[in-house]
Amino acid sequence: MSKKILFSFLAVLMLLSLVLSACGGGAASGGDEQKLVGISMPTKTSTRWISDGESMVKSFEELGYATDLQFADNDIPNQIAQIETMVNKGADVLVIAAIDGSTLSEVLAKAKEAGVLVIAYDRLISETENVDYYATFDNFGVGVIQGTQLLNGLGLTPGEAAPAGVGPFNVELFGGSPDDTNAFYFYDGAMSVIQPFIDSGTIVIPSGQMGMDVVGTLRWDGAVAQSRMENLLSANYTDKRVDGVLSPYDGLSRGIIAALRGVGYGTADQPWPVITGQDAEVASVKAMIAGEQAYTVFKDTRELAAQTAKMVDQALKGETVDVNDTKTYDNGVKVVSSYLLTPYSVDITNYEKLLIDSGYIKAEDLK
Ligand code: BGC
Repeated sequence: MSKKILFSFLAVLMLLSLVLSACGGGAASGGDEQKLVGISMPTKTSTRWISDGESMVKSFEELGYATDLQFADNDIPNQIAQIETMVNKGADVLVIAAIDGSTLSEVLAKAKEAGVLVIAYDRLISETENVDYYATFDNFGVGVIQGTQLLNGLGLTPGEAAPAGVGPFNVELFGGSPDDTNAFYFYDGAMSVIQPFIDSGTIVIPSGQMGMDVVGTLRWDGAVAQSRMENLLSANYTDKRVDGVLSPYDGLSRGIIAALRGVGYGTADQPWPVITGQDAEVASVKAMIAGEQAYTVFKDTRELAAQTAKMVDQALKGETVDVNDTKTYDNGVKVVSSYLLTPYSVDITNYEKLLIDSGYIKAEDLK
């Protein structure tokens, strides 16, 4: 072999090894073909799902996976079609935050036939055995936080009698979307601490509207919450003030605030009632700084994405999958093994520490 040929042979070898290492040395690509994760998110109308999607792409890519991220515009047939396309494209894994958790049975049967690993993300997938794991937050705990916030904002403490001369308070209740099992956990968690105060007469619900069948808000739609709040105000509050509103999600809280503003709340004479929320969305953290919304709940979507990627990686490698709850989430067909992360209560006193110092929200975005 001449020197020239030997050098070009070595050069080709070096180039090949460079190309191979650039293809990702991650576990998912080591040896085999790179595995594909289909990520199906419900909507872009709420910023949390955009963050979830971005964080998941990052977490999976760090572990060497390829990703296909889709948002379904809160349209159920659209979500089913997107998932079907992922299966047809040969996805090895599906990570799904369902719009309506009960609508995916057929497409997931196809996914199972194709040997796809299915993870319910944040929202439980129901009425099917074809869901392998569930990664979420402690959803009942979120509700307990929201109920406790409402009580604290009114000067009450869960489990303790109201101090003498405190109350009665006029409160209205809002629930999330009845096709999302989370909405029931949030409502039940909140009511577990609020109900005793209703029973004792410290909290009054002037509209009488209670229970998820009447207070639910289809598709978590802020406009629906706004119009329900407008109706509640005109039918029940011409001669009294609202002291508190239980709202399970920031997008609904903003609709509720708009309705209240419309009838004059937010002034010295008519201060804002105590309003709760969830997701620490930028617009609502701003509303908190402005004194309109008293509380939100922070669920770190970066942590949820990382936990999900970890569970997928463990499952595909045949390792023990990290779950911490095997009892709570019965989807109608089976109890789905779950990992529940911790939610945090946010108010004006701790939002900087929880949201800005942690890098979840940039300080300049709140200006
Ligand atoms: C999520 C909440 C979110 C709501 C509306 C729920 O399933 O758990 O974080 O506020 O959907 O998007």
